[in-house]
Amino acid sequence: MSRPSLGFATRAVHAGAAPDPATGARAMPIYQTNGFVFEDLDHGADLFTLKRAGFAYARGSNPNTAALERRIADLEGGTAAIALASGQAAWFVTLLTLLASGDCYIGASRMFGGSIALMKRMEERLGIRVQWAAPEPDAIAAAITPESKAIIVESIVNPSGEIVDLPAIAAVAKAHRLPLIVDNTLASPALFRPIEHGADIVIHSASKFLAGHGQAIGGIIVDAGSFDWREDARFPLISEPWRDYDGLVLTEAFPDAAFTAAARLTGMREYGPGMAPIIAQMIATTTETLPLRMAKHCRNAEAVARCLAAHPRVESVSHPLVAGPEQAARAARLMPKGCGSIFTATLAGGEPAARRFLGALTLFSHLVNIGESRSLVAHPATTTHRTLPADVRERLDIHPGTIRFSVGIEDEADLIADLEQALAAL
Ligand SMILES: *Cc1c(COP(=O)(O)O)cnc(C)c1O
Repeated sequence: MSRPSLGFATRAVHAGAAPDPATGARAMPIYQTNGFVFEDLDHGADLFTLKRAGFAYARGSNPNTAALERRIADLEGGTAAIALASGQAAWFVTLLTLLASGDCYIGASRMFGGSIALMKRMEERLGIRVQWAAPEPDAIAAAITPESKAIIVESIVNPSGEIVDLPAIAAVAKAHRLPLIVDNTLASPALFRPIEHGADIVIHSASKFLAGHGQAIGGIIVDAGSFDWREDARFPLISEPWRDYDGLVLTEAFPDAAFTAAARLTGMREYGPGMAPIIAQMIATTTETLPLRMAKHCRNAEAVARCLAAHPRVESVSHPLVAGPEQAARAARLMPKGCGSIFTATLAGGEPAARRFLGALTLFSHLVNIGESRSLVAHPATTTHRTLPADVRERLDIHPGTIRFSVGIEDEADLIADLEQALAAL
């Protein structure tokens, strides 16, 4: 069901799924089973050595996760995807597929606090070293050394909403023959498709806009099929024969999706953080409305950002459309459909002002997650970013008076009314 000639909204509804062949059920049934029966001995053996596609044991894959994988791969314009238990798991599996102890890679210094924490821990515990660089082409080019093996950035930075210049970063990655990994969680493929701008691997926390309901944790890795891994000794899991799989060479068996094949074999079969079938079905169901929801998220977020920016007690607002001409121009060039609904606003008066503001809001929920239908606010300095050293927090523009917004899909007038009464409490 992958027909890229169809429009995005049509593919969001149909890609990866079809009526159930056994029952005719139009929506996909949930295949709640650990095991799948083999036709005979050869069938089982072939599934195990990847000579045949299919299902053997649900840790590696199951029909619901496979359908979600096909849908997200299609929407991102990739060749294959794998679904994992969380966005963090997607990051972990991606990095471990490409890198081993002693290796190093370029990591964006401005990005989601949880990703920074994961990268720091992997460095500390596994010796996979991060070469930090601002998510800008010149800074990344300057940080690259002959040892660097990959580059990882976010398309929209969490929580500031900063849009990175991905085409320029991709040009740097290509010039140095490094795979470019892009976390596209805050944009979603409805607003921005990194593969069209040169990304080789795309990561999602599906817990956010892809699901949109805030009722499921999941992660996705999409393979662009664009990087030439063949005989590249830097990436032995992808390019060298697997002795324990009869000498299987993934770049030969899966020329368009060798990276995801390696990630599935090691990351899911061996390490094990796969996605449960019911979660895959919950996420696939709401991706059907992704383009509609993203349009509303973007409109509401712009209105909320403009309301905040106009208030005398608000020192700064990071939303790209109010943060200054450079971000606004980048938004127009790269994300004409909108630039998401996550951004920060820093209130005058530090933590006491943040406390009063959060206490006065009634419609916005005060919690740490993002990307769901409800409007949400958080205080990063005391929650999501509390474990980061103060200098890292400042670099991420997180101050005691900073509030992180994730604007939902409610009526704009109600959100603005709630915001105005909370701002009046300052
Ligand atoms: C939330 C988030 C993650 C982690 O995803 P989980 O599903 O919470 O594990 C990774 N990257 C970004 C940009 C996120 O917002």
